Amino acid sequence: MRCRFLLAQDEKCDVCDDRVLSLADDRDAISKEVWRTRDSKKRSLLPPAIATGLAAVLGAAEGGLYGLGVAAGVTAASYGVLGLLFRSSRPRPRGAHGRPKPPAASATGIVSEVKDAEADTFVAGAASYLVFSLKSAHVGVTLRRGRCRTVVIACDDGRRVEVPAGRCRIESRAAEQDELNKVEAARLLIDIEPHDDLEESLFPFDAAYRVDLRRGDRVELLGDLAPISRDDPSYRESAHVGSRFVATPWFRILARA
Ligand SMILES: [Zn+2]
Repeated sequence: MRCRFLLAQDEKCDVCDDRVLSLADDRDAISKEVWRTRDSKKRSLLPPAIATGLAAVLGAAEGGLYGLGVAAGVTAASYGVLGLLFRSSRPRPRGAHGRPKPPAASATGIVSEVKDAEADTFVAGAASYLVFSLKSAHVGVTLRRGRCRTVVIACDDGRRVEVPAGRCRIESRAAEQDELNKVEAARLLIDIEPHDDLEESLFPFDAAYRVDLRRGDRVELLGDLAPISRDDPSYRESAHVGSRFVATPWFRILARA
């Protein structure tokens, strides 16, 4: 739950030591974790106090503009206070705790092969990474999801890294991320989260970003690599001695094809 990374059934997170909840069995527990209620009186009283002042000022300004006098200001201030009191009593979702810190890079190379071409609604290129966040409520990231096809990275040092299809992470700069519209984003969530009601959803979001890794992209491989053993079937298939990630494949995009 800490980094909000979507794992496969019975998988452990390789970045944080936090508990892993199952979408199949623990929906109530996930909901409680995400939709905590506000219990701090200090926090729920302070914003209305600020809002009263702000609404009064805005109300007075509006009143002056439309020539309706102070009455409009008082009305606007009252609505402002009521709105904020109502708002502060509603549950506020909780997002991820910080950002997963990537390990050091062990190699640099080019995405040279994408072996598994089977249709997948989620993985657009060699790999795809999605980040859902609730910006309006300053909640931050509510879900991360990354998957790759079976890909081969041709490294500058001659190594060939085979990445089996499965989950992955992709580090990227803002320029490499595409912002998804809400319909598109909801479509990518539908197999794990059928709710479209923001207040009911286990993964509430108002912004979603997507990064796709494609053949020819230049990447850094983050994390340790180990040689593929002679007993491994993929060793016999490949013409060159290969390596693979020790933990979850983690890429950083350096340059686009
Ligand atoms: Zn984690």
